Amino acid sequence: MRSKTPVLTLKKPARGGAGRTGHCWIYRSQIAGVDGPVEPGGIVQVRSDKGYPVGVGYYNDRSEIVVRLLTFQDTLPEGWLRSKVEAAAAWRKRFVRDTDACRIVASEADGLPGLIVDLYGETAVVQFLTLGMERLREPAVEAVRSVLGAETVYERSDAPSRQIEGLEPRTGWIGAAGAAFAEVREGKVRYKVHFEQGHKTGLYLDQRENRMLLASMGLGARALDVFCYEGGFGLHLALSGCRVTGIDAQADAIARAEENRSLNGLTPDQLRFKTANAFDELKALEKAGERFDQIILDPPSFVRRKEALEGAVSGYKELILRSMKLLEEGGFLSVYSCSYHMDEHLLLQTSMAAAWDTRKDLRVVRFLRQSQDHPIHPFVPETYYLKGFLFQVKGR
Ligand code: SAH
Repeated sequence: MRSKTPVLTLKKPARGGAGRTGHCWIYRSQIAGVDGPVEPGGIVQVRSDKGYPVGVGYYNDRSEIVVRLLTFQDTLPEGWLRSKVEAAAAWRKRFVRDTDACRIVASEADGLPGLIVDLYGETAVVQFLTLGMERLREPAVEAVRSVLGAETVYERSDAPSRQIEGLEPRTGWIGAAGAAFAEVREGKVRYKVHFEQGHKTGLYLDQRENRMLLASMGLGARALDVFCYEGGFGLHLALSGCRVTGIDAQADAIARAEENRSLNGLTPDQLRFKTANAFDELKALEKAGERFDQIILDPPSFVRRKEALEGAVSGYKELILRSMKLLEEGGFLSVYSCSYHMDEHLLLQTSMAAAWDTRKDLRVVRFLRQSQDHPIHPFVPETYYLKGFLFQVKGR
């Protein structure tokens, strides 16, 4: 295999190249050339400008990220894919508690770029996001079945990013079909997960620890869950004794949130849902003189691309500003950004700008992060994408 694998040589790095910085992505601009034909999705060996081995990865020149490294060794060891899935599963076993729904493989964060595997009870939901990983679909599914013992495997390869890789969307059962939904547990909360219609693979698993944390903190009786999806934070808070209003723009997400409410034995009086645009509803609540002790702001990624950052910042500022006006004196706001480009510093700056304009003072109660089943690799900074703050908001 060794002699047949095409060799890709990097340019002299300006300030440390991919192999040196430990990042697994190699951009077009970093490449000096390839010796011989290399097919899209195929495996290449990568060498530095001086000929030193950098690693082995898969290649696709349709994307600006032409190579994603699978190893920093000079060859791919026998059984590498399975052993990475095993290592990923072992990490979750060690760190994930109190649930039967978690992310087992988080793409680059588990050394398996382009592969997502989420486990919901006995069902694994998989996503193939790149051409290189798509070509490893069979061994990947085989590893998922044998390592995780998943009884059924559902494919949700419908992320828009597949287009960049030249891939069509693909969804459906791989092998024997299972039930269209599963019931899973997250601490005290039970969720019904719909594999076909849910966002992502069904749930926003990355917020699990924050949902459980906030519910355990006892931050006040009246809560507002803005961008509530299928009930996420609201279900946890209502079960911990709060009276909650949940808002989401998608009617079908709200319908499923209502199903989850019944599943958890909660009443509409304890947990009220409304289909509404967050920006409009925050205004309407203020006008109606409503007040809350705690507000959760968990918007979708407003910034998929760096160019959209300015618009996103002003959107965030407006959401935060309006939420601050709805809080009781000394109330609590938790605000999140799931976009890598809107980083911790920018989120804090934006929150401060909103506080300044509303004559509020902020105190950080907690720095918040994605859950442990979405590991963070400092060498691949994009793996640290979900961050948030729990603030106490007081008059200045
Ligand atoms: N907090 C949730 C996840 C939120 S994901 C949880 O823990 O499960 C973001 C949600 O925002 C999605 O459900 C999406 O439908 C919703 N959304 C997007 N734009 C919106 C808008 N302008 N107003 C209200 N909801 C919106």
